[in-house]
Amino acid sequence: MTAQHYRCPWLLGPDGWQQDVVMRVAANGIIERIDAQPDEHARPLPGVVIPGMPNVHSHAHQRLIAGLTGRHGSDEDSFWSWRDQMYRAIGLLSAEDLETLATWLYCELIEGGYTVTGEFHYPHRLAECDPVETSQALLSAAEQAGCGLTLLPVWYRYSGFGRKAPTAEQAPFILGRHAFGELIEQLGGPMDPDGLHRIGMAPHSLRAVDVADLAELVSAIPEVPVHIHISEQPAEVEACLAATGKRPIELLAEHVELDARWCLIHATHANDDEIATLSKSDAVVGLCPTTEADLGDGVFPADRLLETGGRLAIGSDSNLVTSAAAELQLLEWTARLTRNQRNVLVGQQGGHIGKRLWTLAATCGAQALAQPVGALVPGRRADFIVLDQQHPLLSGLGPDQQLDTLVTTGRSDLINEVHVVGKCLVQGGKHRLKDALADDFARLRARLAQHGASP
Ligand SMILES: [Zn+2]
Repeated sequence: MTAQHYRCPWLLGPDGWQQDVVMRVAANGIIERIDAQPDEHARPLPGVVIPGMPNVHSHAHQRLIAGLTGRHGSDEDSFWSWRDQMYRAIGLLSAEDLETLATWLYCELIEGGYTVTGEFHYPHRLAECDPVETSQALLSAAEQAGCGLTLLPVWYRYSGFGRKAPTAEQAPFILGRHAFGELIEQLGGPMDPDGLHRIGMAPHSLRAVDVADLAELVSAIPEVPVHIHISEQPAEVEACLAATGKRPIELLAEHVELDARWCLIHATHANDDEIATLSKSDAVVGLCPTTEADLGDGVFPADRLLETGGRLAIGSDSNLVTSAAAELQLLEWTARLTRNQRNVLVGQQGGHIGKRLWTLAATCGAQALAQPVGALVPGRRADFIVLDQQHPLLSGLGPDQQLDTLVTTGRSDLINEVHVVGKCLVQGGKHRLKDALADDFARLRARLAQHGASP
């Protein structure tokens, strides 16, 4: 790739909007300079330019059961009954299937504004394949789709607090301490040529990993990002209290230092003391509002976290919804429904909701995934989105109103182009591989629907 220069009518920088500037991107896809110098060779971008959004939490395989769990099956349909259906789907997949569906999904996520994804990967053994092969299937999918990937292999040992033995359905997820360390080592080899891939790790949850073992793991494998499901379900909090006398975030904070490596996924049922702990730490809270709503998880007090200076990023999680804007929309709407107010998460400093939430989630998401993205500044990767200036909904609007429209409508069809590491992957709202991949994904989805992924 050669160096490229882009003329941006408006560009969202860390300090606000810059009008009519040229973004100069080096041949390696890193932003070199952003300035207002005239440049007749610069390619004019057809709309407002904003940073690509990091997606801090994805389970790619769950895209396959989107819409297959909508039949009311019992009086107690819940996260736990949904999980049984999801486990059945895993039993029908091979590593090749995983690569097919993940490639399709990552293209959809790029269209939705996510330029890098954190894949929280626990189906380590599929059909005859071992943990290295399933991880490589995901890395290969990201490479084909062209997005960044922070692969977070999951350490999963138990089915509940007190080292409860795993169930038969959880067998494909289970790795001993030695096997997990080896997997991280084997995956930590040479990176892809564009430097888009990172390896982190994900102790699944405090119910699936003993907290003392977890503390040993994070000190034995330093520096890489660490993600964990922390407090998604009330039953999980109750079980943690019963087994240890502590709530999950309280327990975790007693055993490890919650520094900038940490991303706490679904801190949903944090109480006030736990919110204070999170706000004082450098850890990021990873919320997945559409999945949390779909699963009936509960409401995280995002207003309190932000008022006290906490860090927050978003994820697509079950991948029922693949639009970054839709996650931010629901995050803000939930705060409005809870507080009977509008524009809640803008906070005391005021300003526009779109700019506030997009900037916050992009910068915190970049930290959580340890990727040089999240802000359009020299030294970071040229991962960016161009809004569709021709879309009637954006007609006549200034940049703040355009970004407000994106976030408050939640519509990814307001996105025209998406660029990753300086390469244009999406034009006219469509990923360039989408047509070529559609048949393979459709066949897989039809097979799954026929073979009992749903009751
Ligand atoms: Zn998850």
